[in-house]
Amino acid sequence: MVRLESVQNAVDMATAAAKAICGEAEPYRSPPWFWSNQYDLRLQTVGLSAGHDEAILRGSPADRSFSVIYLKHGRVIALDCVNAVREFVQGRKLVEKRVSPDRRLLADSTIPMNDLSGSAITT
Ligand SMILES: Cc1cc2nc3c(=O)[nH]c(=O)nc-3n(C[C@H](O)[C@H](O)[C@H](O)COP(=O)(O)OP(=O)(O)OC[C@H]3O[C@@H](n4cnc5c(N)ncnc54)[C@H](O)[C@@H]3O)c2cc1C
Repeated sequence: MVRLESVQNAVDMATAAAKAICGEAEPYRSPPWFWSNQYDLRLQTVGLSAGHDEAILRGSPADRSFSVIYLKHGRVIALDCVNAVREFVQGRKLVEKRVSPDRRLLADSTIPMNDLSGSAITT
């Protein structure tokens, strides 16, 4: 059990509850995501980083545009993105597909994350 407080979760949970009431119950699999603007910083997260055993920095904090990618047992479970909208959009697919990409490629911001989503783990 986990308590999530975000607009995305409130909206998606309401949709799931309404569908269940109408007889269309289906598993809730939506990965949590969150965004907020704090002054000149756009903060976006996807997935839950709790329990990660590895964190990879992509981009440059000095440039005020970077992401931290969290892995557990080699699989991408979450991202924190700061002024990195493209990374958030593309990285979300890595979380959904639970991919296990090469760490060096993950850390290389010149390689689009879309190019890393092919190594999905299906189990
Ligand atoms: C300061 C703050 C900043 C936040 N920033 C972000 C953010 O940047 N991004 C993000 O994703 N999430 C953010 N959140 C979290 C997000 O706002 C909540 O998770 C989300 O609004 C929850 O939606 P909800 O519909 O469940 O509840 P609410 O939005 O709280 O809606 C509940 C509604 O029910 C009404 N109500 C309560 N009791 C009764 C009653 N007895 N009768 C009739 N009406 C009643 C309330 O007036 C309210 O309008 C923030 C929350 C706070 C407090």
